[in-house]
Amino acid sequence: MKTILIDGTWQDAQSKDLIDVLDPATGCVFTELSRGQKEDVDQAVVAARHAFKNEWGALSAIERGRLLIKVRDAVLERADEIAAVESKDTGKPLHLAKKDISALARYFEFYGSAADKHHGEVIPYLNGYNVNVVHEPLGVTAHIIPWNYPSQVFGRTVCPALAAGNAVVVKPSEEACQSVLLIARIAEEAGLPAGALNIVTGFGAEAGEALAKHPDINLLTFTGSPAVGTRVQQATAENHVRCVLELGGKSPQVVFEDADLDKAVPAVVAGFIQNTGQTCSAGTRLLVQRSVYQSVVERVAKRVADVKAGMPDSGADCGPIITADQFKRVQAFIARVKASGLEVLAQGQLDNVDEGGFFVPPIVFGPVPRMHELALEEVFGPVLAVIPFDDEQDAIELANGTDYGLVAGVWTENGSRQLRMANAIEVGQVFINCYGAGGGVELPFGGVKKSGYGREKGFLAMDEFTTTKTIVNHY
Ligand code: NAD
Repeated sequence: MKTILIDGTWQDAQSKDLIDVLDPATGCVFTELSRGQKEDVDQAVVAARHAFKNEWGALSAIERGRLLIKVRDAVLERADEIAAVESKDTGKPLHLAKKDISALARYFEFYGSAADKHHGEVIPYLNGYNVNVVHEPLGVTAHIIPWNYPSQVFGRTVCPALAAGNAVVVKPSEEACQSVLLIARIAEEAGLPAGALNIVTGFGAEAGEALAKHPDINLLTFTGSPAVGTRVQQATAENHVRCVLELGGKSPQVVFEDADLDKAVPAVVAGFIQNTGQTCSAGTRLLVQRSVYQSVVERVAKRVADVKAGMPDSGADCGPIITADQFKRVQAFIARVKASGLEVLAQGQLDNVDEGGFFVPPIVFGPVPRMHELALEEVFGPVLAVIPFDDEQDAIELANGTDYGLVAGVWTENGSRQLRMANAIEVGQVFINCYGAGGGVELPFGGVKKSGYGREKGFLAMDEFTTTKTIVNHY
């Protein structure tokens, strides 16, 4: 099957080379992708620029919005099929993939509805002047997408970009992008004009790098690892191209002694095992007030012992790790932590898994010293570090004590403390007595520090994908 979409035509890479894609639940090759490279990226950017200046750019905001709503309807009609494809491709449990596709449909709905509501303003100025501030599309936006949430990251970056009137070039992950390809086909069938959405599959170091370096893109949005984030940021800086980075995290869940543990403990466990820990916002540091450390650890351990890692369609809580390399990385990380002498507080179960699959049952370590690698570095696997703290000030210092700043959870019944903690924690999103809260298409999302910058989700994303022009009229 052809996996490159340029100007409405599915095609092979110009080189005709292919990339093998593994099924993470078995370790076997299950499909192939075209190995797009610079020349394919160049063609895609030309097609996007042409669409932006012609058919796509000629549509009104109302028309663009209606088209996105049509795609939403088509996505909902085929939601089970897209979810099955994403589950097979990424290894994530089918029940989780279904939630992701609901979120995808909601992105099309939210931004389809937002397209004609991103108003400008009139500024009162000197007598004799009429000043209008308008939001204009940027032109061609480039989207580099990771493997952990292919359809969700597609939805949260591509939908606002299209709603704002940009034409788009997507470089999905070579590890998992079957759902993205299907969504693109569905969008085309629903009537998205040729060239508005272009896709180039390929390796990051080839197609991804070519896209990031391209001088004729107007914005690059990148979701992925901090290391690659630095590279793409450097590449876009060469051309003064705007860059939105959504990178990693080491998110804290802060549990105070007055927390409702019946609420906190299930959310803490769900927060670190989701998508087998391969979630940028996973709550992978459990910071617990010393007075309740023992009881929290016992409750968490009891719950984690029941967690099952199994085949994606088995109803298990976790699937496999996505790739052979990532599997080795996570295993090596766990081995190093064990070798450092840390106690394993709990471990989940493997449930009838294929021997070739990349399965890692969830594991909990504690008490983890504050400067230990596990307390500071993202594992991107189902590994929880439990760290005790003394008081509120100590909790704040610990919560802010990594290079990351994406998301935090705070569990306390004390209203003043809730506010103080929300203000003091350096992250893009703070959840009080909840965590994740259903994904929140409506809620602005993004990081501070090494978790990146720029905001996705919510109405704010319409600002991210537009430029503001001030028009001063002297009459
Ligand atoms: P990755 O950085 O290896 O790859 C992400 C994307 O970048 C892929 O499409 C890849 O092909 C491409 N890429 C790789 N090298 C490139 C290069 N030199 N130039 C341009 N593109 C290149 O990340 P991953 O392993 O797919 O994802 C895991 C990481 O992503 C984790 O660190 C995780 O925390 C982060 N992540 C962050 C968010 C967020 O919103 N903050 C969401 C999901 C994942």
